[in-house]
Parts: sequence; structure tokens; C-alpha cells
Amino acid sequence: MNITVVGTGYVGLVSGTCFAETGVNVTCVDVDKNKIEMLNNGIMPIYEPGLSEMVDRNFKKGRLHFSTDLGSAIKDSEVVMIAVGTPPGEDGSADLQYVLAVAKEIGSQMDHYMIIVNKSTVPVGTGDKVRKTVQAELNKRNSDTGFDIVSNPEFLREGQAITDFLKPDRIIVGVESESAVKVINRLYKPFMLNGHPVIEMDIKSAEMTKYTANSMLATKISFMNDIANLCELLGADVNKVREGIGSDKRIGPYFIHSGTGYGGSCFPKDVKALIRTGNDNGYDLKVLKAVEEVNDLQKSVLVRKLLKRFGSLEGKTVAVWGLAFKPHTDDMREAPSLVIIDELLKHGAKVKAYDQVAFKEAKKVFGDRIIYSKDQYAALEEADALLIVTEWPEFRDPNFTKMKTLLKNPLIFDGRNIYDPKEIKEAGFEYHCIGLKLT
Ligand code: NAD
Repeated sequence: MNITVVGTGYVGLVSGTCFAETGVNVTCVDVDKNKIEMLNNGIMPIYEPGLSEMVDRNFKKGRLHFSTDLGSAIKDSEVVMIAVGTPPGEDGSADLQYVLAVAKEIGSQMDHYMIIVNKSTVPVGTGDKVRKTVQAELNKRNSDTGFDIVSNPEFLREGQAITDFLKPDRIIVGVESESAVKVINRLYKPFMLNGHPVIEMDIKSAEMTKYTANSMLATKISFMNDIANLCELLGADVNKVREGIGSDKRIGPYFIHSGTGYGGSCFPKDVKALIRTGNDNGYDLKVLKAVEEVNDLQKSVLVRKLLKRFGSLEGKTVAVWGLAFKPHTDDMREAPSLVIIDELLKHGAKVKAYDQVAFKEAKKVFGDRIIYSKDQYAALEEADALLIVTEWPEFRDPNFTKMKTLLKNPLIFDGRNIYDPKEIKEAGFEYHCIGLKLT
């Protein structure tokens, strides 16, 4: 089968490469010439574990191609997937300009029946908008070429995108045509062999499923952060509370850790967009508004703790471990570190940061306003305190003795609760974490 994937970001590049891995002939298209040139030269534009090797393998086998020319790419394609960005517009709604620009181009170029699959996260009703946009272009050319629209939202997580794509919990397919179902099932069959189901539904429900999933996950995070803050005031330990509730099958142990709030390219924008969809339809999504409010506050929780401890941060040096919004990615979109570092700088602190892979992205934001340390220990030299912002594995069992000699004060503010409070106290550190007030 020949397919085209439009957009070579986290979703498009991973999806296209994983389809190629199953023997499908894939052309990944992007408007970003630089990205396509990099990919054609074997250079990855993003950091995603395992992706580089898989791209390389499929590129060399001649099943994976990179191009800026959508028209040529779709000439022999049965399926074209739209996987471009849907960033938040000024009013919080998903900005559909990139999706609709692709739809327009497909409509103006296609010359045979195709299945147009929307993989981007888009509000309910976008399937219709894409259909109308494509049809309008066909009408302009007096073309009677047929097409079907499918909604196939993507659930991969950055940092484990390949595993998620190859072994998805489920594949959601919003579809209204039998012939499209057959082709999509064929395309996804290799990923369903271990019993991962394809759940078929109408297009609107598929679009809504994606927003509901992300909003539910964001709700779990904000709820537990709210509970963590109350635990601190009451003298309870949120980690114990989490274990206590997580063992209840109705609740489950996943996604109930407290921390510095959710970030990344999906949860913040998708929560915003769903609130906006509610507003546009005269429905006030009160729970989600609170989820967003709690999250905004939580991003500054470590800075509030620092201020409480020091009074003022003027002239203090603060080491920050972790910049990416989560481990195993270089993505810094909406990362809590952005808010934390901004506030530290506003309070007059000097910031020494370390992250395994996100420096390139961080430099785009902070330039020379912070110091980029060559390793996690270098960041600690002459620092008054350490903040742990992203739970990279290398931070989990560091050399505490070395850390104590480097830090000015043996003081850790852990936004990810990665250490055992008792052990860290025994190691001679003053330890502040989330949801547990230590005396
Ligand atoms: P991204 O910003 O990493 O990549 C988008 C790509 O699309 C860019 O390379 C851009 O140059 C390209 N593009 C824009 N307009 C184009 C056009 N007209 N023609 C060709 N290419 C074009 O985005 P992403 O993180 O991969 O997300 C894509 C979509 O998938 C979004 O809707 C997002 O919400 C959703 N999603 C993202 C993730 C994730 O973890 N990143 C997970 C699930 C779903």
C-alpha cells in the first residue's frame, strides 16, 4: 500500500515510520524545507527514543521517503494522513489553519479516490470542514473525484511514541464509509495482532474521544495536585494517599502522581480547546476550568516553596534539573520549567540548568539568560538549592555525597517526588517535595 503522511512532527514522523516498518510505502511531507532536508540526510529534527534507527532502516529499504511536494506524494497514495499542528488560537480554540491548508492542497491536487485521514487533534465538526474544503477545491476544477474522510486521533506519548504506536491500547477510527473501514483495518492490522482493538465510531465521536481522553488525564493530575497541597497543610503524605486510592480498581494507580503540573504540546491546548468548544455551544465545562486553574498555580509551586524558605531569591543561585516537559523528550512546549525559570529570573535568581536532551529547545526560549551546565553535577556548583523539575532516570540515584560537596546548602526542592524523604534526610539533605510537609 502507498500512503502519504502530511506533517513530520512528533505524530507524523512516528506514524509514517511505524507504517513503513510494516512494509507500507510511506511518503512523509512537510512544508518545512529544512526539516525535510535534515531527514533526507539522516538527521532527526526531534528527539524520540528509537526513532532515528527506525527511520534509517526504512529509509534505506526504500519504503520511507521525505518530500515537500504533496501533489507528487499523493499521486499513487490510497490514503493521505493529516498530522499537522493544531496550536491554540488566541481565544483558546484549536487553530485549524494548518489542517485546512492541507485539506485545500489535497483537494486541489488529487486525481483519484483517496481516504483522507485526520490524525491531528481537532474539535468536533472538523471532519465536516475538511470534507467541505476538499470538495470546494474539486468543484473549482469540475472534478468528480471521490474521497472519504476518516478521523483517527493519535494517542502516542512523546518519549515512548514508538512503543505506543506499535502497541496501542486502542485505535480509534471515526468513519462513515465501508470501503474506508476496510482500508484502515488493513493498514492497522499489524498493530492489532496482540489484541489491541480498533474501535469504530462516527467521526464526531472519534474527534470527541481524543479531547475527552486528554481532558480526563489532565483532570487526574490537577485533582491530585490539589489533594497534595491540602495534604501538606494537614500533615498527611500524598504518596501514601496515592497508594491507598490507587489500589482501588475503580480508581487505578496510573496518572495520580502529584508534581509541578502538566505541560507539553497536548494537555494544555486540548483542555483549553474543549473549554472553548463548551463555550461556543453554550455549555460551561466547570470541572475543566478548575483543572486549568489548578494547573496554572501548580507550575509555580516550587518557586513558592523556595520563597518561603529563603524570603528573597535576589542574588541566589538555583540549580534546575530537567527542562523538558517530561523525560525522554526534548519537547519544551508549555513545560513547567518555562514558568519556573521565568519566575526565578524575575525574583533575581541566577539559574544553572541541566537537561539530557532539551538544551537546543531551551536556548530558543532563554538564550543567554540562564547557564546551561554540561552535566547534572556541574549545575550544582555554588548553587543555593536544587530544583528537580523533570524526572529523568539519571536523577533518581545520583551521588548524594558529591552533591553535598558541590551545593552551597544541602537543599533539594523535588517537584517530582523521586526520593524517599527518610533516606534523603539521612543523607544529610533538607528536602522539600510535593504533598508532604517534612519537619
Ligand atoms: P508538530 O508541531 O511537532 O509538527 C507539525 C508539523 O506539521 C511541522 O513539522 C510543520 O512544519 C508541519 N506542517 C504545518 N503545516 C503544514 C502543511 N501545510 N503541509 C505540510 N506540513 C505542515 O506537531 P505534533 O506534536 O506532531 O502534533 C500534530 C498533531 O497531533 C496535533 O494536532 C497534536 O495535538 C496531535 N497529537 C500530538 C501528540 C504529541 O505527543 N505531540 C500526541 C497525540 C496527538
